[in-house]
Amino acid sequence: MPTVKAEALRAYVARIFEGSGAPPDEAQTISDHLVEANLKGHDSHGVIRVEGYVLGAKNGVTTPGAPTTIDRESASTAVVNGNWNFGQVVARRAMDIAIGKARDAGVGVIVGHQSGHIGRVGAYGEQAAAAGFVAIACVNVHGAGRLVAAHGGAERRLSTNPIVVAGPTEDADAPFVLDMATSSIAEGKARVARNKGVQLAPGLLIDGEGRPTTEPWDLYGGNPPGSKPPGALLPVGGAEFGYKGFGLSMAVELLAGALSPAGTTRPDVTRGGNAMFMLVIDPDRLGGADAFRASLSGMVDFVKQPPFQEGFDEVLTAGEPERRRMATRLRDGIDLDDETWRQIASAAQSVGVEPIAG
Ligand code: NAD
Repeated sequence: MPTVKAEALRAYVARIFEGSGAPPDEAQTISDHLVEANLKGHDSHGVIRVEGYVLGAKNGVTTPGAPTTIDRESASTAVVNGNWNFGQVVARRAMDIAIGKARDAGVGVIVGHQSGHIGRVGAYGEQAAAAGFVAIACVNVHGAGRLVAAHGGAERRLSTNPIVVAGPTEDADAPFVLDMATSSIAEGKARVARNKGVQLAPGLLIDGEGRPTTEPWDLYGGNPPGSKPPGALLPVGGAEFGYKGFGLSMAVELLAGALSPAGTTRPDVTRGGNAMFMLVIDPDRLGGADAFRASLSGMVDFVKQPPFQEGFDEVLTAGEPERRRMATRLRDGIDLDDETWRQIASAAQSVGVEPIAG
């Protein structure tokens, strides 16, 4: 299992995306995002994606270097068109547009469409929080990435539809960043388990017959893939309380799908991608920026106070596990499984880049 330092991985992955046709600054944006996802412990949204992204550029699904354009806008709203560039490039620009509008108008609301997979959505919440703003962001796949069963349904109808709520605290290095898939787990977590050859916890998956399973290959139609019908992830809350995650996922469809030209999940879609909704609020136009940060920090301190339940020795708040993992992985390097490392090397060779040693 190779262990790679973040800096070396950033440079390597950026060269691969340049080889795929991305301008150097955009290649670096994508690479920085993926490596940061690994640093923050979300290997499912890290460099494991390189092979798929490179393939997307090769077969014309993604258009490296495409401009981000605005279909229509007002002082506080915009419909952002990514023209099928890599999603990390589109989403970062879309968030910049929403922040700019919030700065001018107090609130900025954008929907984005024609975008590749935008990766770890929390990154864009962090972008807003770092600028002093509150953000709500969510993403759908407008029908192509259906992986999640409706509560009570036995086959895939929804994508994993993540939602982010983020805001700054008094500690500039410790924003609140709730960043969660509305499925029981993000699909990439099943992919990581599949690549590592390990079982998932109970209550997260059903197989193609609608039966509970812990085998990640069941999600992909067995091993080899396609040997049986594909399974589905359950919504947050699992078999018993999945109606909550299911409702939240439908709410994401309402915001990122129905409000956007990309539309909601539906059966007749062949092209994937991430449609996005981003709402950015300037707290200074409401209760005041200082008061907001003090209030949020006070709540964080309050909920972290003991006593703790049996089996716990502390309370963490959203964004904290990611920051801790990042500190460790920046120091020790990022462990990547052999299969992911092999896939990255194969993607590198396919675009004329010499693989590096792990
Ligand atoms: P997760 O379950 O690891 O974490 C969800 C949230 O819970 C995070 O905000 C985290 O900080 C917080 N958290 C984790 N452990 C905690 C603890 N012990 N105490 C308190 N809070 C805690 O995340 P996930 O749902 O598996 O999603 C993983 C990533 O996948 C996210 O970055 C998400 O944006 C991404 N994703 C992207 C897409 C897409 O289409 N682009 C789709 C699905 C998911």
